[in-house]
Amino acid sequence: MKNFLAIIVLFAFIDLNAQNNAWIEAYTSNWENYDGGTKLIANNDNWLPITFVLNYHPINLEANKPNGTYVVVPPRTKGYEVVRFDKINKSKGWKFKKGNTRTYLGDLTDTEFDENYIYHLPFETNKSFKIGQGYNGNISHQNKFALDFDMPVNTKILACRDGIVVRVVKKNSKRCDEPKCAEFNNLIKILHDDGTIMQYLHFRKNGVRVRVGQKVKKGEHIGFSGNVGWSTAPHLHIDLYLTDKDNKYRTLRTKFKINQNEIVDELNKGVIYLKGY
Ligand SMILES: [Zn+2]
Repeated sequence: MKNFLAIIVLFAFIDLNAQNNAWIEAYTSNWENYDGGTKLIANNDNWLPITFVLNYHPINLEANKPNGTYVVVPPRTKGYEVVRFDKINKSKGWKFKKGNTRTYLGDLTDTEFDENYIYHLPFETNKSFKIGQGYNGNISHQNKFALDFDMPVNTKILACRDGIVVRVVKKNSKRCDEPKCAEFNNLIKILHDDGTIMQYLHFRKNGVRVRVGQKVKKGEHIGFSGNVGWSTAPHLHIDLYLTDKDNKYRTLRTKFKINQNEIVDELNKGVIYLKGY
C-alpha cells in the first residue's frame, strides 16, 4: 500500500511542477519524503531569485506554510526547503490532490524600487541617437515602457546602471519582422540593487562582452548593437522591469540624463538624444 501511494504522489508532483515553469532555466525541485511527511526542496542555479506561490491540496498532511505564501529561493542556492508537510494521522497514508503552485523567476515580494534613479544613456559620450519607438509604441511596445534607439550595427552599448549580469544570449543571427523571431533575440539582463532588471536586446551575433554573474558598472561597455531577433532595423531595445505575479513582466518608467547634465522624466519617440557626459 505504501508503494502504491508513493506512485500516486509522484505523479501528482510531476503534474504540479510542470506548470508554468518551462521558461525558468536552471532550476529544479524535488520532494524528499521523511518519516513524518514530505518536503519540497529547490535548487536554484539562476543568478536571480525564484518565487514559489504555494497552492496545494494535501490529504492527511499539514503544511508549515499556508496556500498563497510567497516563498523566495535566493539565487545560486541548493537544497532550499520551500514547504514542509507533516502527517496528521501517522497511521494513515497521505497524498496530494491537484494544486496550482506557480513558480516565477524573480522575487515577487520585491515591489518597491527606486523610481527616481537617473539612468545613463546606453552609448558612448558625444554620440547621439534617435528614439525610433518609445513607450507604448505600436510596433512591439504595446503596454510596455520600452525604448528603441535607432543605431547602426556594431555601435558600442554601455550599461545604464551598475548591476550584476543575470542572463546572456549571444549565439543568434536570425532576424525577422514578426514576433515569432523574439526567440532569436540576443540579449543581456542586468539586475540592479533595488531588484529591477534592465533588459538590452538585439546584439549582433557574439556581440556580448559580459558573462552571467559578472558585476558591471554604469558606463561599462557590455556589447555591440545588432539587428537580430524580432527587429525591423538595426537598433537597441531596452526596458526596465520587475517580475509581477499576474503578467510576469511589469515594465517601469525610467528617468535619463541627457546632454551635459539635464534630467528628463522620459525619452520620446522621434527625438534625438545626445550623451554629452
Ligand atoms: Zn523595442
